[in-house]
Amino acid sequence: MGIESHPLQTTFRPGDTSELRNKEGRCRNCDRARKSGEQFMFCKGCKTAVYCSEQCQREHWKDHKDMCKFSRANAEILASHPGAVAAPVAGMPDFIELQALLRDFSETHRASFQTMLLAKLFLDGGAEAILAAGQKICIVPLKYREPGPDGVVNPALTFSYTKMVFLPLDRVLADPQGTHSRLVDGWNASASLRQRLRGSYAAEPGFIDVMPVMFSPQVGPTQMAYFPIYQMPGGVSREHYQGELELLSKFIEMGIVLRQPRPDKAPVPGYMKDLGSGRKWEWRPLVNWDTNPEWKRTKTTKERVKLLQRKLAEARSA
Ligand SMILES: [Zn+2]
Ligand SMILES: [Zn+2]
Repeated sequence: MGIESHPLQTTFRPGDTSELRNKEGRCRNCDRARKSGEQFMFCKGCKTAVYCSEQCQREHWKDHKDMCKFSRANAEILASHPGAVAAPVAGMPDFIELQALLRDFSETHRASFQTMLLAKLFLDGGAEAILAAGQKICIVPLKYREPGPDGVVNPALTFSYTKMVFLPLDRVLADPQGTHSRLVDGWNASASLRQRLRGSYAAEPGFIDVMPVMFSPQVGPTQMAYFPIYQMPGGVSREHYQGELELLSKFIEMGIVLRQPRPDKAPVPGYMKDLGSGRKWEWRPLVNWDTNPEWKRTKTTKERVKLLQRKLAEARSA
């Protein structure tokens, strides 16, 4: 399993750019979680990939070596060009911190973004029609959002979302001015990761491919993810997908985060709870939309947003 198909992360430490921010991560090779008190090891090359054992690290090397080389080169470029690390705009965090915030933000909302991608594909004519004219990349333009007056950084609220668009992959990678050569290098380096992901989803009904998704703030770093796309089930209306897209966009705006309350349950809307002056956050459920009578009575996005706003205020004042 590649990192994009990991079970969703539920705790975050915003702005922690150290390699140890990954210490709760699962083994990149066998996907096993760390038991309490157990030490996992980092890849000595990139210092970010985590393994449960030397054997797992050895087994994963053929899939990891290109990405490892790419990450190491990135770290060297940043270390030797202090200007590249500086805050892109006065008042914003520096490049390294922005990168950590962007990684956390895209992971916090991964369940929402994956669902939105499928809804958007349907609304734009269906995945197969869109891919028929050549491979696409989904671009998600984002805007950095400053923390509130208390300065507390909620990982679910560090960027604001407006839309997603599909562009021809070759056009994005074409690199006419050489400005995106790192993007091309990153694309090439992640080939075996994409192959591995395809393999892990291949048995799922209706699976078509993994689609590259680029989270792209107006300035600073970008973050690439690979989401599985599927054939659309028949009999679902445009309105349904339109409503889903609208509601989930609101979730991102409000910092509402979808997670499974238990591994065997479907995701429900929740929020990130501050466990230590903004340095540690943990997901908590807000409302179970399958059983909650108030949710069942809601008909429109507006009513649902209103209900969630009230639940959010109640949870925060509790
Ligand atoms: Zn392992
Ligand atoms: Zn590595």
